[in-house]
Amino acid sequence: MTAGNASGFLASVERMIGAAIERTDLPPGLGDVIRRCRSVYQVRFPVQIRGEWRVFHGWRANHSEHRLPVKGGIRYALEVDQDEVEALATLMTFKCAVVEVPFGGSKGGLRIDPRAYDEEELETITRRFTIELDRQGYISPSQNVPAPDMGTGAREMGWIADTYRMLHPDDINAAACVTGKPLELGGIRGRVEATGRGVQYAIHALFSHPEDLKSVGLEGKLEGKRVVVQGLGNVGYHAAKFLEEEDGAKIVAIIERDGAIVNEKGLPVQRVHDHMREHGGVKGFPEGKHVADGAAVLEMECDILIPAALEEQITRDNAAKIRAPVIVEAANGPVTYEADQILREAGKIVIPDMYANAGGVTVSYFEWTKNLSHMRYGRMGRRMMEMRSETAIELLETMLKQKVPAALKSALHTEADELNLVRSGLYDTMRDAYEQIREMWRSRKDVPDLRTAAYIVAIEKIAHYYTHYAL
Ligand code: GLU
Repeated sequence: MTAGNASGFLASVERMIGAAIERTDLPPGLGDVIRRCRSVYQVRFPVQIRGEWRVFHGWRANHSEHRLPVKGGIRYALEVDQDEVEALATLMTFKCAVVEVPFGGSKGGLRIDPRAYDEEELETITRRFTIELDRQGYISPSQNVPAPDMGTGAREMGWIADTYRMLHPDDINAAACVTGKPLELGGIRGRVEATGRGVQYAIHALFSHPEDLKSVGLEGKLEGKRVVVQGLGNVGYHAAKFLEEEDGAKIVAIIERDGAIVNEKGLPVQRVHDHMREHGGVKGFPEGKHVADGAAVLEMECDILIPAALEEQITRDNAAKIRAPVIVEAANGPVTYEADQILREAGKIVIPDMYANAGGVTVSYFEWTKNLSHMRYGRMGRRMMEMRSETAIELLETMLKQKVPAALKSALHTEADELNLVRSGLYDTMRDAYEQIREMWRSRKDVPDLRTAAYIVAIEKIAHYYTHYAL
């Protein structure tokens, strides 16, 4: 797996936006305003590590500030550069607009291999990066709110939150300066799984339209469908696990850095994940066949292909060889502009990144509002809901003079606690957004696919702000 050419990534995203802008009637020049990043902060800062000074190179790009704060993750990877950060910030703007999360788009990155440093060193580097961002106004609960991305997680977000809190002791909303935090620092239940969960819900949304499935030769339920997943990081792992354990799909291949593991009968995702933690890769996993050329497995016959690793994985070189009729972009930018055209001409359905992986930022939004309200979701209403369902059951049993069946009883007793509320909000968001973009795709002859439809839906919402308010 290679990162590909990042400037290609930015160009690819801009071309995709351009194709959508052509299909809207924006006032002259507004398309350019909406397409380009508004500002980028670049920093080189020193940290003393193992007795020597080392310089770290980082970025934070703000794409659109039509709504504030701007929002998006911070990535730790060696491939990070300015073009990549800009492309990812751009995607964030459209992602937020599509799922109606009231934020602009931003993204940050640090060029670092996080595996090359121990925990203490990573903490020092992260805290120092936070101070640099803070000095320039690139982190703040009201202006710019980072989150986890590739190479970062709750641990890093905890360090960021703690550093910000120390710098701004009088800011009562300091916890809202970053999302994806550990629970004890104001994180929210369900955030770690959120992006993978959103991918699962996006697939459910597709499967609720049998006529669309039929157009690519699929039918029926998700149960038994053959799925190939590229990348078993946080997003790929959760998506694959939920599809296997809850929907009965068969994960027939998992592609990782050290090749792929294939099993036609279906792989046990949790065990593959445990194996990776222990051995650092999929190689040697006993319940499947190892294939050294992982990229070739993208071309394997299956029903659903989920690229959940890096950008630029399906390019003009391999697009024509992809056999999956449905491609779900769990990663950001895994399909290039040219590849996208090839897939479309081949009649495939691509569920685009800006919608498919929007579950993360959606739950980040819930976390941010939780931090601003200073109260856990469900705290006020849970007991009330519980009493309502007890009364409903009592009423039914008294009136009907028979017991409510156990399964219905337990469904009625589903608690309105934080995790269930987050899942409910996420499901509703993903279903609604899918219906909006599908409607745009199906109702207009000049809209060729879900990606263009998603961009048009987002652009129209963003344009509304630019044309009505002084920005
Ligand atoms: N890094 C994630 C993304 O690319 C999450 C962003 C967020 O939660 O703000 O969507």
